[in-house]
Amino acid sequence: MTVYNAPVDDMKFLLNNVLGMESIAQLTGYEEATPDMVDAIIDEAARFYGEVLAPTNKAADSQGSRLEGGKVITAPALDGIYQQIVEAGWPGLTGDINYGGQGLPALLAVAVDEMSQSANMAFSLCPMLTKGVVTALSLYGSDEQKQIYLYNLVSGTWTGTMNLTEPQAGSDLAAVRTKAVPSGDHYLLSGQKIFITWGDHDYTDNIIHLVLARTPDAPEGVKGISLFVVPKFMINDDGSAGERNDVHCVGVEHKLGIHASPTCALSFGDNDGAVGYLVGEENQGLIYMFAMMN
Ligand SMILES: Cc1cc2nc3c(=O)[nH]c(=O)nc-3n(C[C@H](O)[C@H](O)[C@H](O)COP(=O)(O)OP(=O)(O)OC[C@H]3O[C@@H](n4cnc5c(N)ncnc54)[C@H](O)[C@@H]3O)c2cc1C
Repeated sequence: MTVYNAPVDDMKFLLNNVLGMESIAQLTGYEEATPDMVDAIIDEAARFYGEVLAPTNKAADSQGSRLEGGKVITAPALDGIYQQIVEAGWPGLTGDINYGGQGLPALLAVAVDEMSQSANMAFSLCPMLTKGVVTALSLYGSDEQKQIYLYNLVSGTWTGTMNLTEPQAGSDLAAVRTKAVPSGDHYLLSGQKIFITWGDHDYTDNIIHLVLARTPDAPEGVKGISLFVVPKFMINDDGSAGERNDVHCVGVEHKLGIHASPTCALSFGDNDGAVGYLVGEENQGLIYMFAMMN
């Protein structure tokens, strides 16, 4: 069993005496990040990630995730853990208060995320990717997209993924071939992405994919890549998850040390085309995606 005791004294010392948490707490909007509050959050995070998540690490890695009948089966050792993390409010710790987050300084998440990643790296990639989607949509999404997606992503009710890589396009994203054809108020996407971290699972009733693709008249190379938001399930008018979108997991890789993380091959548009919505402007997708990657 993995034992993880977070170095809480060192973390508190760094936050308070080196990195200036107290002066950050003087800034407008961060008044709640008082030394007592910060200490209490660090203590509780250490307990939670040390006692709840770390014991899952070894068993979950041995069990791994797999694809069965088109469904991703996650490691049994992780059953119920994601729900506990959402109930405890950890995903929204530093999220925007306008979208249900707790609005605490990002510096605090540096310590808390280190605990999560030290306790179980494979698992922690899931909330990490979701935070990246929140960042990209907060910066570049339309007001409507923010309303539809951000509340559920900030709280962790839904998770998010990053879809850049294709079989012929790894470091060289100029080679991205996934297509996005305009169709009314949306686009229809088709193509295959590989190595998509937590690309599918059933922890949540929806997964929000951010996907790089090319529109029909796009320029060659990285100047012709656009960014689309593609939900696993279409969103009903009341905001709930509806009909299945045309994006499916077709394979799960085996990655040393992170077998519990479903690193997926995702196929978009095998049937009618995966419905996607443009983020920002066409051909600016790589710039937007860098906000997520960073
Ligand atoms: C565990 C895991 C999770 C991942 N999760 C995601 C994800 O969630 N979403 C996603 O989109 N992708 C994901 N990826 C894919 C990752 O982004 C790619 O693996 C990465 O971009 C490299 O691409 P590649 O594997 O095709 O390697 P290549 O691009 O083929 O590179 C192979 C080697 O060649 C070198 N190389 C490449 N080009 C050059 C050059 N021009 N000059 C010199 N050297 C060069 C590279 O440095 C590397 O050493 C994941 C990968 C892994 C392993």
